[in-house]
Amino acid sequence: MDKAKRIILLGATGSIGSNTLEIIQRFPEDFQLVGISAHKKCQALAQIAETFQVPSIALSDESAYQSAVEAKIFSKDSKLYGGDQALHQLIEETQADILVVAIVGTHALSPTLKAIEKGFDIALANKELLVLGGSFVTQAIQEKQVRLLPIDSEHNAIFQCLHGNNTKDLKSIILTASGGACRDTPIDQLQDITPHQAKQHPNWSMGAKITIDSATMANKGLEIIEARWLFDLEPHQIKVTLHPESIVHSFVQWIDGSVLAQLSPPSMTFAIQHCLFYPDKRANPKPSIDFDESFSLNFAPPDLKRYPCLELAYQALKQEPYGGAIYNAANEIAVQRFVAEEIRFTDIPKIIEHTLNNIQTPNTHTLASLLKIDQDTRDFAQQLDPKKL
Ligand code: NDP
Ligand code: MG
Repeated sequence: MDKAKRIILLGATGSIGSNTLEIIQRFPEDFQLVGISAHKKCQALAQIAETFQVPSIALSDESAYQSAVEAKIFSKDSKLYGGDQALHQLIEETQADILVVAIVGTHALSPTLKAIEKGFDIALANKELLVLGGSFVTQAIQEKQVRLLPIDSEHNAIFQCLHGNNTKDLKSIILTASGGACRDTPIDQLQDITPHQAKQHPNWSMGAKITIDSATMANKGLEIIEARWLFDLEPHQIKVTLHPESIVHSFVQWIDGSVLAQLSPPSMTFAIQHCLFYPDKRANPKPSIDFDESFSLNFAPPDLKRYPCLELAYQALKQEPYGGAIYNAANEIAVQRFVAEEIRFTDIPKIIEHTLNNIQTPNTHTLASLLKIDQDTRDFAQQLDPKKL
């Protein structure tokens, strides 16, 4: 690269955020961090701002922002944005080459659309955003001819496998799934899984929400919908296989019968580094797969009785253009209620299903109607009594 790539990192204090910072720190000549955000963790954000000398900072939680201002946590040389509009303002007023979207939830939709409008490439870890607003994001990407680089490991694998091939010859993609924290729990005991148990992922170290989503496989459901938008696929072209080792991150199957896969150890550093340097490659000091050792890889079709959230994702795809938005928002509320111990683990798919079947959607499809459906779904899912479903 001729000059340092300017990066804005939304969600700098999270799991993907800290993996991204590690890479930026390793290649100081190649990257310059020009903007960062967190929601509440102002001390951690201030530490990052100081280490990387970041000029523009956003704290999206209003009260965290007020406390940070009062306590003068951030250097007065940095520009500080706070509250609901902070992410949008950060993007609007900062020049960058690439936006890394590593926050949870759907709050990044409008800042990401703004970044595309400004011509930044997007490195996307956040899947909720495409599940909610995939048509708007992909249309904006096409209009502005910027890159949409998937960090989510499965989609990053598919992106790499498709490279240099003609996508018209694609038969299907096969997303791998670890099976999550409860993959060996007898099905009749799933109802007693606690939030603590659901947060213990066997292979990956990730944020709390995505780890619980892995246990229900709502994460794979979101990834099915994410793949539909990223690679413009029909639902029947997207398949899932259970792969407990999490070494193969996904497969691409061609019409001539051959199958390509991408492999690396279960660490997000490989996908993030791929996106940050794309289309170049750099050495990664993390150990890769060692073919001097024996190892085996296993694959099996997932049991839909154990993972009803998977089938519901295909239902959501049939309910386009709003199915993804409903699936995502219902799941987010169900997970919050599960973490608050209001509902059981096995109530999560029940809430998604009932919500998908009952939310009224309009005939029009605008950004405003999409955001209304998102809010209506949240209100609906919040008041459902799973005992009556
Ligand atoms: P974490 O929970 O570790 O981090 C979330 C980040 O988002 C934090 O910086 C947090 O700030 C910020 N945040 C939380 N709530 C809000 C909000 N309401 N508005 C704005 N920012 C907010 O999440 P992960 O890093 O695990 O995941 C980030 C995204 O990447 C998710 O969409 C996830 O699905 C996706 N992803 C993650 C993978 C992983 O390995 N972790 C793998 C593939 C995809 P604060 O710290 O202040 O709360
Ligand atoms: Mg993934």
